[in-house]
Amino acid sequence: MIRANRTSSLQSNESGLTKTAMPTITLPDGSQRSFDAPMTPLDLASDIGPGLAKAALGARVDGVLVGMDHFIESDAEVALITPPRGKDPCGDDALWLIRHSAAHVMAEAVQTMYPNAMLVYGPPVENGFYYDIALPEGQSISSDEFERLESHMNEIIKADRPFTRCDHDLSSGLERLHGEGSKYKIDNAQRAIDGGADTLSWYATGTPGEHWDDLCGGPHVPSTGRIGAAKIMSVAASYWHGDANSDHLTRLYGTAFPDKKRLAAHLEQLEEARKRDHRVIGRKLGLFKIDEMVGQGLVLWTPAGAIVRQELQDFISTQLTRQGYQQVFTPHIGKLDLFRTSGHFPYYQDSQYPPIVDPDAMSVLVEEGCTCGDLSNKLRAGDVDGYLLKPMNCPMHIRIFDSEPRSYRDLPVRLAEFGTVYRYEQSGELGGMLRVRGFTQDDAHLFCTESQLQDEISGCLELVQIIFQTLGIESFDIRVGLRDSDSTKYVGEAANWDRAEAACTAAADGLGTEWKAEPGEAAFYGPKIDFIVKDAIGRSWQLGTVQVDYNLPERFDLSYVGSDNAAHRPVMVHRAPFGSMERFIGFLIEHFAGAFPAWLAPEQVRVLPVSEKSSEYAESVHAALRASGRRVTLDDSNERLQARIRIAAEQRIPYLLIVGPRDAEAGTVSVRARGIEKDLGAAALEDFVEALNDEVTTRSHGGLADRLFQVGQMPPEDLSSSPDRRFT
Ligand SMILES: [Zn+2]
Ligand SMILES: [Zn+2]
Repeated sequence: MIRANRTSSLQSNESGLTKTAMPTITLPDGSQRSFDAPMTPLDLASDIGPGLAKAALGARVDGVLVGMDHFIESDAEVALITPPRGKDPCGDDALWLIRHSAAHVMAEAVQTMYPNAMLVYGPPVENGFYYDIALPEGQSISSDEFERLESHMNEIIKADRPFTRCDHDLSSGLERLHGEGSKYKIDNAQRAIDGGADTLSWYATGTPGEHWDDLCGGPHVPSTGRIGAAKIMSVAASYWHGDANSDHLTRLYGTAFPDKKRLAAHLEQLEEARKRDHRVIGRKLGLFKIDEMVGQGLVLWTPAGAIVRQELQDFISTQLTRQGYQQVFTPHIGKLDLFRTSGHFPYYQDSQYPPIVDPDAMSVLVEEGCTCGDLSNKLRAGDVDGYLLKPMNCPMHIRIFDSEPRSYRDLPVRLAEFGTVYRYEQSGELGGMLRVRGFTQDDAHLFCTESQLQDEISGCLELVQIIFQTLGIESFDIRVGLRDSDSTKYVGEAANWDRAEAACTAAADGLGTEWKAEPGEAAFYGPKIDFIVKDAIGRSWQLGTVQVDYNLPERFDLSYVGSDNAAHRPVMVHRAPFGSMERFIGFLIEHFAGAFPAWLAPEQVRVLPVSEKSSEYAESVHAALRASGRRVTLDDSNERLQARIRIAAEQRIPYLLIVGPRDAEAGTVSVRARGIEKDLGAAALEDFVEALNDEVTTRSHGGLADRLFQVGQMPPEDLSSSPDRRFT
């Protein structure tokens, strides 16, 4: 039995249960429309207006994503999905429909060019879609073929053929699949059947039987023309079911957008992101290294990167001192008992390096003939002494807090440490500085009274604001994680939670920037605030967090003596607003595209004599800058001046001083600022030294040029957005 152009919801009716379906549809704005027969989202759109009927791509019916031809037989809430207009952002549903549909079109193009290729599986993914393809022995798809494949795709899109559904009952569907002989599609069908499907459906790009089709449950956009703009992005190897021992497949990645403009903007952003990749820039500027011999996910900070990190830490430390924090240092390992008390062991064992067994205990165990399995059990049970590479700094800060009696007059106690922690991330997840196995948190723990909580949280947010402002990060948003209605899973008293949540939201309010409440996102031990920053090209980065904690003070039985002379439990706040130095600097590298402001730049200024004749003067300029504390180099190599300027530009050095015989005579330097291809002008050497020192100590962006040459403030985005183009 074959039925065309029907969706499965109708089948329940055909089993004999007829009812007079007169659905009332509730729209997102609460308004209602009634129909005197089963209808589709297309009927609904037409009822509202012909423009909408033409524009809509699909719908959500009671929350389920469906195509415009989906039958609605009973009352439902329906939201129509339309493509974005003008500069409106494109919704996830519209992108899903477009990309899923584009995957069909790409598959059709592949089978047109490679008639014996078998299709395996092709879902939408973040930023696009892919399709896994089994090519016959000896055939392959390389990027050389993309253009031809895309021209086939564009033909299909241009033809604007309708996506037409065709249902088979299970036996005729399977019969068809066996006839076609694709084990991959039979496997897909079997999975659908195991998941409860009672029919198998194909979608044709056009008329079933006449045009190409593919086994699929839908939904799609109404017709191929609605895909807008599609592009094949890359090709990679993959395995059937992701199993390296199974069939080797070819994975073709593509992307699609509602219109060409959005596709072009996406491609431009990808190109910009590629140029800013912190792994690429990190290598080019010698900022860090990940060395297989040292270990995966373990970052070596090379001298240039160490400067950036140290400057940033110094800056944060200055702010912490102003806010009354006290700096502490704690060891990299601690006894298992400590982490058992905190709950980090054996709870989070999967994400930790295995414990280090105490050497004395180890010799005894060896004599007893203890097996690895026994050892693991003994460690977990606490029968053997051992140490853990610390996954968190908190337990050690707690022990510092608890190392002396505390009175309410001592609170709040704010303990800060750039503390290195170790977590065993899966190797597949590691890449550059963003996912690592050892990282240094900008960590601190605040111990305070309930009534001090709001001020402490506000202080944390203030710090974030100061640091973002200094770095020229203008756009960030804040998510406040709150309890959900199921209140049984949270530790601590409800009244305290109310207060802590109020403290978090009031602190967020105080920032005067957007924030979002996220019910259900609180940790079991307290509400939290997460920071998401937008970089220079608009990408979002999740950085660190501020978390209120009612759990650890309990587990470690912390107390202070109140004004009533009785013992009280302090509240604890964990805060690492920038996450880790690795992640934050990875972000900064990409945000600045390696063009750090002078105070962070590994090399702040380079001196270039125009020729050998000026070498001696160049050396004295170099010496003067070095004596003033600046990070300066001298390039008096035999390369031509233009070549030396180009090298310095590639290294993103903020200032170049080009000196010739006239400068030597007058005691001046010709100043060139990064991102501007001509000299700003000549300045007396001591004026330049003073202006640069001022720019560095005030951590301003381009303040020097303003001061010496009145060229106006150069924001960091301007300096970093197109350094390559301006210099070449
Ligand atoms: Zn499909
Ligand atoms: Zn902590």
